[in-house]
Amino acid sequence: MAEFDLIARYFTRPAHADVGVGDDAALVTIQPGCQLVVSADMSVSGTHFFADADPYAIGWKSMAVNVSDMAAMGAQPRWATLSIALPSIAHDWLAAFSQGLFDCAEAFSVSLIGGDTTRGPLNIAITILGEVPRGLAITRAGAQAGDDVWVSGCLGQAALWLGHQQAQLCLHELDVAEMARAMHHPQPRVRLGLALRGLASAALDVSDGLLADLSHILKASGVGAELNWQALPCPQLQRALPASSMTKAVLAGGDDYELCFTASPTHRSALATLSQQLQLPLSRIGHITAQQGLIVLDNGQPMALNEKGYQHFV
Ligand code: ADP
Ligand code: MG
Repeated sequence: MAEFDLIARYFTRPAHADVGVGDDAALVTIQPGCQLVVSADMSVSGTHFFADADPYAIGWKSMAVNVSDMAAMGAQPRWATLSIALPSIAHDWLAAFSQGLFDCAEAFSVSLIGGDTTRGPLNIAITILGEVPRGLAITRAGAQAGDDVWVSGCLGQAALWLGHQQAQLCLHELDVAEMARAMHHPQPRVRLGLALRGLASAALDVSDGLLADLSHILKASGVGAELNWQALPCPQLQRALPASSMTKAVLAGGDDYELCFTASPTHRSALATLSQQLQLPLSRIGHITAQQGLIVLDNGQPMALNEKGYQHFV
């Protein structure tokens, strides 16, 4: 099958664009008064997913991680390009992959408007473009001493699934199914990101683990934070795990794609209302301090963290 036929068959769907797939470049019109928001994320076989992973899940997730970056900026995701290297043309794989990719794209109003297709070790690079009214984007740099620190949803589920896969811990089978959903079918928090415009002072999506990611906000904003372990949203499991497995997953586990954000305490009731409207838990997990550094208190006692902010595990 020629490259052109492959693109037409698997990667061409109606798009909100002036010119989409098929020309030398795509053409889009940005709404007046908006800034263009651009982000890229690459998913590499063996690094970001197992080579034999479900192709539908690979498609969903490679789009979802990009959409999540738009959510973290308070942006409306709009367009994406897909640059893909394929080791061979496997029709079943391509059909499932593109279905997962488009299911996620359509769920979040993203149009695929172009890309590049080449032969090579499986590698999926997506660039996503979104819009935000000028001045309303939520960056990492706005956190101020006294702000609350919040996180959406539940942390550590994907990491627990990975730990189970790698036989580092053993989950009940009902929990395996739920944690697997979090790992393979993450739900980018776009509605939350849009609603946080004007409420959050800083935000990002949790992809590398809460402490590592929050420390990016702290550095960009020139502040510190004190978190309360008891306030962190931990997965509720059928069978308890050793405490160290849970702290590691919740504080340092990657792939959550929840939003972590800071907001003035004056917005607490607005955020409680928002949580109900979105039917999405929002946990107030601590506060920003003028003094730099990141501390997590467990019943008032600082937990042992190493310099990078990761939990120090034995
Ligand atoms: P060119 O040689 O000009 O780079 P290509 O043959 O690579 O053109 O691509 C033809 C058209 O198909 C372009 O509009 C390009 O954006 C689009 N395209 C190529 N690969 C993909 C893909 N994987 N997904 C979506 N669009 C693609
Ligand atoms: Mg090309």
